[in-house]
Amino acid sequence: MTRSSFSPEAFRSRFPLFAQPENRDLVYLDNAATTQKPAVVIDALAEFYLHSNANTHRSSHRLARRATAMVERVRAQAAGFLNAASPREVVFCRGATEALNLLAFSLCEELERGDEIVLSTIEHHANIVPWQMAAARRGLNLRYIPHTAGVPQFDRLGEVLGPRTRIVSLSGGSNALGLRPDLAGIRRQLRGYNLRWVVDAAQLAAHEPIDVQAIGCDFLVCSAHKFYGPTGIGLLYGREACLAGMVPWQGGGEMIAEVGLYQSQYAGLPHRFEAGTSSLAGIAALGATLEFLREQDRTAMAAHEQGLLARLHEGIAALPGLRLLSQPQHNLGVAAFAPEAGDASDLMHWLDGRDIAVRVGSHCAQPLLRAAGSGPTVRASLAAYNSYADVEALLVAVADYLQLDQSLASAAGGTCHWSRDSLGALQLERLAAQRSWQDRYRELLRWGKSISAKPEIRLPANLVRGCEADAWLVHREEGGRHYFAFDSDSRVVKGLAALLLSQVDGREAGEIRTRDLAGLFRELGLARHLSESRSNGFHALLQQIQALVSD
Ligand code: PMP
Repeated sequence: MTRSSFSPEAFRSRFPLFAQPENRDLVYLDNAATTQKPAVVIDALAEFYLHSNANTHRSSHRLARRATAMVERVRAQAAGFLNAASPREVVFCRGATEALNLLAFSLCEELERGDEIVLSTIEHHANIVPWQMAAARRGLNLRYIPHTAGVPQFDRLGEVLGPRTRIVSLSGGSNALGLRPDLAGIRRQLRGYNLRWVVDAAQLAAHEPIDVQAIGCDFLVCSAHKFYGPTGIGLLYGREACLAGMVPWQGGGEMIAEVGLYQSQYAGLPHRFEAGTSSLAGIAALGATLEFLREQDRTAMAAHEQGLLARLHEGIAALPGLRLLSQPQHNLGVAAFAPEAGDASDLMHWLDGRDIAVRVGSHCAQPLLRAAGSGPTVRASLAAYNSYADVEALLVAVADYLQLDQSLASAAGGTCHWSRDSLGALQLERLAAQRSWQDRYRELLRWGKSISAKPEIRLPANLVRGCEADAWLVHREEGGRHYFAFDSDSRVVKGLAALLLSQVDGREAGEIRTRDLAGLFRELGLARHLSESRSNGFHALLQQIQALVSD
């Protein structure tokens, strides 16, 4: 097939999820978590179960032979995708996480107490925790590349290399900031050391063609679902000479040549690392994914993504009230930002109300965000099917949120006392009458402004247990009636608290206990639309209210 130059519209039209009626307005910017799948990949899954489903065994029946041949055909395709020297260097696994666990187990089995593993602060938890576990088991030491506010100074890698360094396991691209390290620079610094170099290419493989020989690494891991493939299948590349010396990490069927009662002989490469039944349909669909990618002009795809990324950063940088953590240079396609005041989750919920899918949190990179002195961030991550219209939709929605936030903040300014009257003015009917979720959400945020700032109640003893956002609740009883005061940084949580308190404040215990407030939460559609963490927050607050009036 001849390569054509890249058309984002034509590319997007290959992805049926976007054509579903409920997704017509969807702006999907959560690609670093997982990408959508083209029809050819979805079809390949069904095709396998329709025509080829059998477990693999070379010397078995027709279908089994067919499945076996398919697996080895896809392995050869994957070797081509990675530019590995041979299919023997390609191990199928569940994904990058499993591949990194395999490496952490098998490589560290051979190490001695006091040997060192070098990591960086930008790593995904999947490239930290397995090494921590292996280090604890084998008495090894972890060392981190020097960093500035969490961002590794990869050019100072040499400072943490030494005679005991055995493994260097580094990101090929960060899921939290998008930062793509200079792999050639890393390779130069590693020259002359007797160690194994692992590249976590979970993000990299989605945005650039991979050439393990040009990179010069010993191992590389990736997950198909990040590059338009199915979930549950990933690749571990290992240089043949390295894989050959490693002990298997899991035992079972498929990975053995012969089994005795007390000892077994393992299969050759790469099967000795593939115990049990693999995701065979996943492998079939991975084959379709690799073919799909082979037909694309990946240079043009990457150029399109970089254009979007530049616009995204330019747009966000122009919005006052936002802190931008990512940089557009050396970035695979991530914008990470947070409101300067308030809670990033509120912004995420606002965007969700406009059907814009982004992610909020620490993005499995807690050490990075902690070192950066940052709380949770909002992450917008790009794929080649995104358009400039997607980026503009995000920028407009964020600007609207900031404007609303600003007007709420100035309206709340000065009135520092929580008052029952202002809660009494909140009318449930008005909230229920908002037809669209976006309008209801806006109303809920307005309700949140009735809860004024109360630094005096922000004490550990008043924290609402089980609520992910910080939230404080105090209570007093007068003449058999119960009164409450509440505070939180999250506008949504404040809105939910206003909703709850408007139903219980100034009432008697019996009345509060019998009111079906959880039912009200469901009736208002809040259970359906709010994230699990916000729903948990509501229920935690409700429980605390019930406990306070029962004491
Ligand atoms: N490393 C990086 C950089 C990632 O972004 C991810 C997934 N977010 C992983 C490792 C783990 O990948 P998976 O969950 O597919 O195993």
